[in-house]
Amino acid sequence: MSRGTVRGGAGCAGSIAPVRPGAQNDLSESFEEEVRAFLSDEEKLHLFDDLTKVNPVTTTTVLKCLQARYRVNLFYTNAGCSLVALNPFQPFSCLYSPELMREYHVALHPQDLKPHIFAVAEQTYRNVQNQMDPVNQSIIVSGESGAGKTWTSRCLMKFYASVAASVISPKGSETVERIEKRVLDSNPVMEAFGNACTLRNNNSSRFGKYIQLQLDRFHHLSSASIQTFLLEKTRVAYQAPNERNFHIFYQITKGATAEERLEWNLPEGAEYRWLPNSERNLDEDCFEVTRAAMFHLGIDRSTQSNIFKVLSGLLHLGNVQFSNPVDESQPCELEDKTKGFVKTTGDLLEIPVEELLESLRIRTITAGKQQQVFKKPCSRAECETRRDCLAKVIYARYGPANPWHSCLLDVYGFEAFPENNLEQLCINYANEKLQQHFVAHYLKAQQEEYAAEGLQWSFINYQDNQNCLDLIEGNPISIFSLLNEECRLNRPSNTDLFQTRVEKALSTNQCLSRDKFSKKPNFIISHYAGKVCYQLAAMVEKNKDAVPPELVHVLQNSKDPLLQKLFPVTEKNQNNIKSQNRAPVVTVVSKFKSSLEHLMQILNRTTPHYIRCIKPNADCKAMTFKREEVLSQLQACGIVEAITISAAGFPVRIPFQSFTERYEILRKSCGSSKRRVCDESNSHTAEKKGETLVMDEDKATRSAVLEILQNVVKGQTTA
Ligand code: ATP
Ligand code: MG
Repeated sequence: MSRGTVRGGAGCAGSIAPVRPGAQNDLSESFEEEVRAFLSDEEKLHLFDDLTKVNPVTTTTVLKCLQARYRVNLFYTNAGCSLVALNPFQPFSCLYSPELMREYHVALHPQDLKPHIFAVAEQTYRNVQNQMDPVNQSIIVSGESGAGKTWTSRCLMKFYASVAASVISPKGSETVERIEKRVLDSNPVMEAFGNACTLRNNNSSRFGKYIQLQLDRFHHLSSASIQTFLLEKTRVAYQAPNERNFHIFYQITKGATAEERLEWNLPEGAEYRWLPNSERNLDEDCFEVTRAAMFHLGIDRSTQSNIFKVLSGLLHLGNVQFSNPVDESQPCELEDKTKGFVKTTGDLLEIPVEELLESLRIRTITAGKQQQVFKKPCSRAECETRRDCLAKVIYARYGPANPWHSCLLDVYGFEAFPENNLEQLCINYANEKLQQHFVAHYLKAQQEEYAAEGLQWSFINYQDNQNCLDLIEGNPISIFSLLNEECRLNRPSNTDLFQTRVEKALSTNQCLSRDKFSKKPNFIISHYAGKVCYQLAAMVEKNKDAVPPELVHVLQNSKDPLLQKLFPVTEKNQNNIKSQNRAPVVTVVSKFKSSLEHLMQILNRTTPHYIRCIKPNADCKAMTFKREEVLSQLQACGIVEAITISAAGFPVRIPFQSFTERYEILRKSCGSSKRRVCDESNSHTAEKKGETLVMDEDKATRSAVLEILQNVVKGQTTA
């Protein structure tokens, strides 16, 4: 089935956009009968490659069609402005072959081919090239953790790269190939450093990624840039039960050569506290792939070796453990069995062991008018926090954030773990923001536009997540503002008190509640995708993200060339040691909020295309479609509402100015008091090709043009 039909289904006869408001809730007998009649023809359900043609549009009918398609290996389905992508959890190489890419690239109307991410990619590519109306394009890939966002964005990048390679660049094909190769090679590197095995996904992205691809005026890939957001760096020093550290650590320990093992002090079979579940072998553990990609990105072997040496140092650091001293005025002691690890850490990070130990165990305090400097031993817990912090601060600078008018967005998916903290709050906040973008751009904007144009339209209700966003980031009071306030006051954190403060200040927001049965201080947020309980323990500290200045200082004094580059000595850093008691100026949530706002501004200047990845079962089992799980994802992202609006709405939308400009020529060619207007330009109205619409020359007003458009939609021909 092609997308070319003007909607006749979904009760489209007669008026411009007759909608059955809240159709899915309509329990009238005749409506149920319609649903039953539609579903009775099971043989045909998989043929609905555009869900706007499903009639009637209900969660049941949509779900049944998706299930029928999944059964016959049809994983992509159009849904109005979005493409629904079901994860097969099994590779189908023919689905992403270069031949198929080419097929979509050369097709006259790629949207008339089977729904596919390549059709979306090709459409954006053509839209950018549109000489008359080039607009920046964006593809927003969303879905919960494990739904297939990273997989999808990888395939999209491959598509763009091969499209760029298939044209002969005036710059020389070598340049294009280099950019293309670099675009592709960035993936394994970023995934090695930024992805990890979680309870929900063996290759879960622990950072957000925004890729910008720039085309030159010859439509060749001229540059690519990748911006990353908020790497979950706590994972370096803490892995939840049954989860793992970042892939790169397993790659090093499993793939290093005998020589490297000696150099990095990684004997075969050694155990590291920060490397749990290493007996599990994953495809993602392949060191060679990362190394080769790093090499192609211009990171030579010796720099690579330097990076891996420092990362090995972090593994040893993780095995360092402290015990309470006999005399409390003395620094914590090292547990006997871990003494060797401190030495190796010092060797690998090229920091004298004594300095390293001092930075971990002794706090410097500046006090009094004379700014006298005192030294105070840290408690055991503080030593451990410092050890973890040292690993995090180093890794965050190495992490995937490093290397470098169509853009591609793949952020971490919505998450709800048994224990959730600031990381999940930020991740879920990012997903709320993207959902709001969809709601604002599609569900809301479309209907408002119809109302503004004075068209007959019954408003379709949708789930607005503004309330939830107000709760998280709103002004003047929100969870973020309260967290920042705690950091600003810099008082010892009391999670019980903080919980009460949150509840009191935000009690009127219906998205907030609490798990009253839990003994741990917490709050629950009702997100668009479900409820998540967040633990308050350590949340304020995480938000401060304070790095003890002694740690920065010790890293600045390292002899390791890479650490020296990453931690340059500047005046500010040197003064830091004196100002350690001051509250942090920029917190994690404020940084994250402003980078997301920046991203939203960029997205708002583009024409968005949405790919909705759906995870058909929570166990990541191949070809298993669990209806309940798919249903909750469909409901959460408002896809049924979007389909209803698309099905009942106008398939073609041309700005008034463009419309008159585009059809001016037809008016002239008619040369009479009547103008002939026909639309051959848009595949959506393909069935209207050749039909003519006529309007009176003297009344070539805005309303007359609108009338023509209405007639196009209705399929009427006026003579
Ligand atoms: P997260 O938010 O945790 O990063 P994600 O949405 O990025 O999750 P992916 O890592 O892209 O999820 O996908 C999870 C797994 O699902 C992949 O590792 C792969 O095994 C499988 N998968 C996803 N999409 C496809 C596909 N189109 N074909 C085959 N397998 C797929
Ligand atoms: Mg991912």
